[in-house]
Amino acid sequence: MTANPNSLGARDAATLLHPYTNALENEALGPLVITQGKGCYVYDDAGKKYLEGMAGLWCASLGFSNERLAQAAADQIRRLSFFHGFNRKSHEPQIELAERLLAIAPERMSRVFFANSGSEAADSAIKIIWYYNIARGKPEKKKIVGRVRGYHGVTVAAASVTGQPHNHAGFGLPLPGLFVHTDAAHHARGAEPGESEEDYATRLAQKLDALIRAEGPDTVAAFFAEPVMGAGGVLLPPRTYFQKIMPVLKQHDVLLVADEVITGFGRTGSMWGCETYAIQPDMVTCAKALSAAMAPISAVMMREEIYRTVARQTGQLGTFGHGFTYSGHPVSAAVAIETLKIYEEMDLVGRVREIAPHFQERLAGFRDHPLAGEVASIGLMGVFEMVRDHSTRESFAPAAKAGLTLVDKAQERGLILRALGDRIAFCPPLIIERAEIDAMFDTFALALEDARRVLI
Ligand code: PMP
Repeated sequence: MTANPNSLGARDAATLLHPYTNALENEALGPLVITQGKGCYVYDDAGKKYLEGMAGLWCASLGFSNERLAQAAADQIRRLSFFHGFNRKSHEPQIELAERLLAIAPERMSRVFFANSGSEAADSAIKIIWYYNIARGKPEKKKIVGRVRGYHGVTVAAASVTGQPHNHAGFGLPLPGLFVHTDAAHHARGAEPGESEEDYATRLAQKLDALIRAEGPDTVAAFFAEPVMGAGGVLLPPRTYFQKIMPVLKQHDVLLVADEVITGFGRTGSMWGCETYAIQPDMVTCAKALSAAMAPISAVMMREEIYRTVARQTGQLGTFGHGFTYSGHPVSAAVAIETLKIYEEMDLVGRVREIAPHFQERLAGFRDHPLAGEVASIGLMGVFEMVRDHSTRESFAPAAKAGLTLVDKAQERGLILRALGDRIAFCPPLIIERAEIDAMFDTFALALEDARRVLI
């Protein structure tokens, strides 16, 4: 880097290994250093202001600073900065948070296990499932089915159930023998010509059934699915998909784990993606907006029967040999409690339902753009697929880096978005106002023109 060696950027480039970053590029160019946030906006170290169209990493539901949550964290650090849940210890924040979470949880969830991230929640869910199956005399029932393009995190089991090549390449993952993947549910690109959403969903359910049979139903423990695939490209499920998948799972005694890490807490216009799509999960993972992304915390929720079987086994073995130092950390739990109170006071789901039609209308306004492929949205999350040719839906060559070009142009204009390949994701804070939605899409339109000039 040629910049001032004492700059934050140069110090970063000299010291950090960044998550999800080309390290050599970061050494050469340095990072974008964000120093402040207010509402849906963040500011870099040169004072430039950006509208954050991705709520950070799909998580900053209440924006990028908050006095009430700062107070909740400070109060908790003053009262009791740390305690844990090991060996029958507890503290009020995790108890109150468990009650509040279960009170709004998807139907049938009766117990909660806390962790610190979406990945830890996925790994914990997998271990709970293995523990459960061993407890009920089915130690061979271990395989986890994920979906191509599904995303569940980066810890070893979570990365294995994830269906994205870049989470596997370079690591020798997935772990052999335990993880299999079925098709992504993506009608726009996955269906046969002329195949309806319903017929496509039927075919996917048949493929899942065939996969489970081929693996041996006695060896298959669970199926992981995001109600809406996020990091895989914002893929909305085709109509009737989950309704056709669920009986297949039930028939083979395979648990359904709904990964609500992105879709939980209002994102899709219901409290849970499971409600939006009438999914009846056996377990649910959530994180991110649970604490408005202001403190790290995640949760695994489960049906009573799973808990009861696990509990009995802990009696047999003497303990549940799983848990993090910071499971249910009191400061994170206090922030999450306050977050849930804010959601209740602002009528979070009502607010998303009120503002989402404007967001969706503005995004749909790009359907006929010459670079538009699939344009889709649900609640306050959406996607614009960039293609070379609107009429044929011909994609850009990967080497053209069309998606990255576009988000770079948007960033120059003060709008932060995320490119998932050539699919541009929109996932703004849930507090976004109508005028900010307009600003976001007005800037996006200009960035699209900038990108078109470079790419075509
Ligand atoms: N599940 C889903 C659906 C996610 O989107 C993510 C993160 N984007 C994770 C799990 C992993 O969460 P974390 O990064 O907190 O480990």
